[in-house]
Amino acid sequence: LSGKFITKKSFSPIEQIVKTVNKISRGDDLSQRINLQSGEREIYDLAETFDQMFNRLQEAFDREAQFTSDVAHELRTPLSAIRMQSEYSLKYLNLNEESEDILKNILEKSKKMSTLISQLLMLARMDKKNQKLNIENENLNEIIQLVIEIESNYAKEKNIKIIYDEKNDIFADVDKDMLTRVFINLISNAITYGNENGMITITLDKIENSDKIKCQIIDDGIGISSEHINKIWNRFYQVESSRSSDNSGLGLSIVKWIIEEHKGTIMVESELGKGTIFTFYLPEKNL
Ligand code: ADP
Repeated sequence: LSGKFITKKSFSPIEQIVKTVNKISRGDDLSQRINLQSGEREIYDLAETFDQMFNRLQEAFDREAQFTSDVAHELRTPLSAIRMQSEYSLKYLNLNEESEDILKNILEKSKKMSTLISQLLMLARMDKKNQKLNIENENLNEIIQLVIEIESNYAKEKNIKIIYDEKNDIFADVDKDMLTRVFINLISNAITYGNENGMITITLDKIENSDKIKCQIIDDGIGISSEHINKIWNRFYQVESSRSSDNSGLGLSIVKWIIEEHKGTIMVESELGKGTIFTFYLPEKNL
């Protein structure tokens, strides 16, 4: 308490307002308030007005997160009924070729919808700060190998080679499921936006004299132009919806959140027609 008092005291009222407004606009913590205890009447009123606006802003965000979560939950039950009935029909009914094709299509689309629903639920948990990490010291090589295995069939379809030069085992404090999601997203994107007969290179290194781990996913695919590159982290943003037909544009916003929640950083470099490099850094220890 005394620490808080000293900090508050050492900032002028205007500085306090600017500091809080900056924190809120960076989106770090919507629960921040200026909470000016004293000061000139006008400054005090200004701070009060900001705080009231922040209250309304936070309520609107909470409502939106709640709405997303409610809708996603409501959609889950009917969707699983569609999936189960399609699976049952394909397995047990005597269907002609046309009906079988239609049902396979329904099943495939409903699987995509299930993915979208779990992404929406995760975003809602992220927004409500309910998504907690389950941190353990994990072998990152194993996670990468597992994801390469998961994605290998998809890569084969486009005859894309995935090269991962595994060195010594590298361990870090991470949430295994979350980091697996990161690799699935980045590697499946590298395949989706990669060229036929292309190549994906994955590197994993411990940076010397630091506690940081560096990982890169490099593709020689279609690339991203400078006009779009800063927006790819936004929710639902797709460079061209046609080139990612069945995807939602949510993947990278979740990836960024996961890396930053692990106190890491992620960046992208790309050249149109040449390829894309995603680089992220993670601390070894999540203290
Ligand atoms: P999506 O579900 O559409 O793949 P993401 O959030 O994963 O959504 O990616 C956002 C957009 O960024 C994609 O629609 C795509 O246009 C672009 N993108 C992502 N990864 C790559 C990549 N490796 N190469 C080229 N473009 C990419």
